[in-house]
Amino acid sequence: MSFATLGLSEEILRAVSERGYTEPTPIQAQAIPVVLSGRDLLAGAQTGTGKTAGFTLPVLQRLSVAKVAAAKAPIRALVLVPTRELAAQVEESVRDYGKYLKLSPMAMIGGVNINPQIARLKRRVDILVATPGRLLDHVQQKTVDLSHVEILVLDEADRMLDMGFIRDIRKILALLPKQRQNLLFSATFSDEIKALADGLLDNPALVEVARRNTTAEFITQKIYPVDRERKKELLAKLIKEGNWFQVLVFTRTKHGANGLAEFLTKQGIQSLAIHGNKSQAARTRALAEFKSGKLQVLCATDIAARGIDIIELPHVVNYELPNVAEDYVHRIGRTGRAGREGEASSLVCIDEHKLLKDIERLTKREIPVVQIPGFEPDPRIKAEAIRNGQNRDRGGKNPGRRGPPAKPAIGQGAVRSAAPQSRRSAGRGR
Ligand code: AMP
Repeated sequence: MSFATLGLSEEILRAVSERGYTEPTPIQAQAIPVVLSGRDLLAGAQTGTGKTAGFTLPVLQRLSVAKVAAAKAPIRALVLVPTRELAAQVEESVRDYGKYLKLSPMAMIGGVNINPQIARLKRRVDILVATPGRLLDHVQQKTVDLSHVEILVLDEADRMLDMGFIRDIRKILALLPKQRQNLLFSATFSDEIKALADGLLDNPALVEVARRNTTAEFITQKIYPVDRERKKELLAKLIKEGNWFQVLVFTRTKHGANGLAEFLTKQGIQSLAIHGNKSQAARTRALAEFKSGKLQVLCATDIAARGIDIIELPHVVNYELPNVAEDYVHRIGRTGRAGREGEASSLVCIDEHKLLKDIERLTKREIPVVQIPGFEPDPRIKAEAIRNGQNRDRGGKNPGRRGPPAKPAIGQGAVRSAAPQSRRSAGRGR
């Protein structure tokens, strides 16, 4: 199938072909005709499927067909996204695909000075890409007018709900004209998403690509068993010896991201951390350096990394496994995007065996285990509860003492270094 058969204008097709795309991805092939027809859409698609162009292209097309007087054109499309980085990326896509059209996009994000945004809003904005919190700041200051929005897109709606944006979203919905087209994109369909979709969408077309919670075939996944205290060392070795560049490393905490980035930099591996405590300027700079290839490693927490879109991102590393198995799917969705090869490596210590089981159950596949010689887990080390501030059940002053007992090592036969039950943890104080 080619883009030309989808009903997009010459100007859009030219921009798409200059971007190097020859054929639509499955989500684009299904979503574009629906959006062009004016119907509401409920789309199940995660990052990496080409979903951004799946809504951007037809939205541009619809807005470019109906002409509006240039001087006082109102905001006609609103795209709500969960994170600042995603807002910047979606706006960039709108700008790029719309470069031969006369439509102006704007990204509106928190964490930066509001005044330049107020000034920008005084000029023409056709497509507003916003994070909910900052948009509501503008609503409160009466610096934005949403009363002419014709198309609403909720991108990564599941993430917006996870991040607690539901009330903000509802407030924003109340400000939009009743008559409009609604597009909802979500990687998963929880009951909460279904409830949101029920209230928002009018007789929607449903398109879904890649069964939810499955991991793409073109991502090579590996588990590296290692002791928790030796993860840093192993990661530096893997990066150096494998000559890995553009490595996105996930840590569980902001503190962990900082510490790891410092350690790797000391080892001669250029690294920066990106998380919610960093200023927007620092996050943007780190991301730009990483995208351009200047920065070898980016250490990130889940929320900061959400929506990072880098073409051909070759390596994703789970320095620590996520607490929620679905996040594993999101994380590794950053590699092997749109048909390209990628490698997802997870450093797994004894504390994380249950998390690994949950992931394998969810993705319905067993992840191959690779044991790096010299890094075999010490069988005397016992599992500890995971300390990240989120695991409230096991929190408390000394969560380590309450961890589950030592279990056999991971891997179904590939690696078996069963941990004896009675020995004390090696090298740990009492
Ligand atoms: P998304 O899922 O929107 O984040 O897109 C994932 C990646 O796929 C981005 O790097 C896009 O530039 C790329 N992409 C989107 N559409 C296509 C296409 N039709 N052909 C090749 N790559 C694409």
